[in-house]
Amino acid sequence: MKRAAVIGWPISHSRSPLIHNYWLRHHGIAGSYERRPVEPQALGHFLRHLADEGLTGCNITIPHKEEALHHLDHMDALARRLGAVNTVWLQDGKSHGTSSDGHGFMASLAASAPNFSVSGSHVLVLGAGGAARAIVGALVDEEAATITIANRTLGRAEALRALGSRTTPVCVVDWPDLPAALPACDLLVNTTALGMAGQAALELDLAPLKPSAVVADIVYTPLETPLLQQAKARGHRVVPGLGMLLHQAATGFELWFGRRPEVTQELYDLVARDIDPDGRS
Ligand code: NAP
Repeated sequence: MKRAAVIGWPISHSRSPLIHNYWLRHHGIAGSYERRPVEPQALGHFLRHLADEGLTGCNITIPHKEEALHHLDHMDALARRLGAVNTVWLQDGKSHGTSSDGHGFMASLAASAPNFSVSGSHVLVLGAGGAARAIVGALVDEEAATITIANRTLGRAEALRALGSRTTPVCVVDWPDLPAALPACDLLVNTTALGMAGQAALELDLAPLKPSAVVADIVYTPLETPLLQQAKARGHRVVPGLGMLLHQAATGFELWFGRRPEVTQELYDLVARDIDPDGRS
């Protein structure tokens, strides 16, 4: 019986066990997936002794995604480029790491806005944290025409310029100048924590956006953030954050349990009910 886990500090909020145990049941695989709290000072020891922990691999979440790189035997080119891993697996006794967040975002975008093409589009990304890094990397790989980043802390946005390519330049605008960047935007992505339950709201008037623009928010608590509500009311196609969470999980499941799982409406509804049992959002 294969076992996997999600590690973080704290970890009690994670919905990953709900997702993976649904897939294990759905595919009739005798396996398990659990939460493991791992303190920062214990991370290196934990990752070097995954097999002793009885695990075939793990997901890595806050605050370990960057530090984990220093404790793996191998990381793929994507993880090296992004400087972060969220998925680890054992192969021939060695630990390997990759990042599935960017792929998860792209798959979610494709599911929610099937006719939207990133290639040739102008993308505006709000935020420059770990999730933004992964998403910007994926947008560059999909050859967006331009990526513009706005972040409260300018220096963090500047650091993401290095992910750009000849085909997809990454540029930066000051947070207060954000409204001026809206009219040219084909895809707006919020990767900040703003709008998340318990955080401040994202104060942004979407009126300057063109009607065809797609609006994505990777925050998934609440399921429908005020940004998405505003975008929907204005007639934009929207991409909720829960889709990214579900799609990024598929990579690890396939590596550990040998089956590529599907993100179905049934799974979406299961996790959505866990986030909001009253179905308010
Ligand atoms: P992170 O590395 O800590 O980055 C946080 C980002 O939010 C930074 O850009 C930060 O700006 C910005 N921010 C935080 N508070 C702000 C405020 N009061 N005003 C303006 N900007 C603020 O976190 P992360 O891992 O990138 O995650 C960011 C969000 O995405 C979280 O809500 C997380 O739950 C969500 N997420 C969702 C998924 C998914 O699968 N759907 C995956 C990963 C993350 P500064 O640089 O100025 O601090």
